[in-house]
Amino acid sequence: MGKIAILPEFVANQIAAGEVVERPASVVKELVDNALDAGADEIEVILESGGIDRIEVRDNGEGMSLDDLKMSVARHGTSKIKTIEDLQRIVSMGFRGEALASISSVSKLTLRSKREEDTTGNQIEVSNGKVGESTIVGMPRGTVIIVKELFESVPARKKFLKTPATELRQIIRLINHLSLAWPQIEFKLINNGREMLNYNKRVNLEDRVIDVIGKEIASQSFKGIYDHAHWKIEGQVGKPQTGSEKGSEQFLIVNKRPVSDRMVMGAVKNAMGSLLPPRYQVPWVMWITMPAE
Ligand code: ADP
Ligand code: MG
Repeated sequence: MGKIAILPEFVANQIAAGEVVERPASVVKELVDNALDAGADEIEVILESGGIDRIEVRDNGEGMSLDDLKMSVARHGTSKIKTIEDLQRIVSMGFRGEALASISSVSKLTLRSKREEDTTGNQIEVSNGKVGESTIVGMPRGTVIIVKELFESVPARKKFLKTPATELRQIIRLINHLSLAWPQIEFKLINNGREMLNYNKRVNLEDRVIDVIGKEIASQSFKGIYDHAHWKIEGQVGKPQTGSEKGSEQFLIVNKRPVSDRMVMGAVKNAMGSLLPPRYQVPWVMWITMPAE
């Protein structure tokens, strides 16, 4: 008898969860990405204790059939790619088919979904990776995902969660970042019953920038655009007087994806040169659009 055994799927999912879901903000990221991929234009995130106690994401996207609802939590269950070549031109936000499987292995998950053509929606619960019986629910078109008891079964991970205020701050930043990537989509964020963000659908990027950084700062900023055959860089940068030592108002978006990149951060900082005291940063937003491959 050899020593090598194949890991049970549930354990493999828990390990994968270590890469996909680190904290409430990463759960929210995966769920909102799915809502965006489903073509939603209204997305609501409802939290308790910064997502530590409960995360709910509601969307008005295309929804799922009961069969797909059950498949969605299976490892590598995805509707987005079929072959490795598909990766070359991936335009969807997710594609590995691991997010829901991973999240369901480290939490108690409730999924509810309804398609346009169905008269009722379906609900399933997943606990410790096991999919329970489905029930019929009344709901509008779209999907609702509820995540409870995050990391309760993995105390080593739970220990690394920060305070609710810190987890909330990261989610606020994430939703702000996403909402700048998707100005035409309505985003709402609620924590402990209190509305934190509420952004209407916007036609103009400028209006979304005002939503996020405020009228005051937006009015004290430069706009720039570089339009090349395959590349487009669009940006809005605060004037030196908007600078401060806290640096959370920099948002880089590449092909509709929120991205953090030190090189770009450094480039903006360098461009400001001596106009800005050391350690100071100005708020800015930059959109880079380039071919997917
Ligand atoms: P991926 O997004 O990488 O495909 P996920 O585990 O995040 O993997 O989701 C699995 C599948 O479940 C998706 O490919 C999609 O078909 C379906 N799905 C997940 N969330 C939603 C949603 N909010 N609306 C519609 N379909 C969804
Ligand atoms: Mg996904």
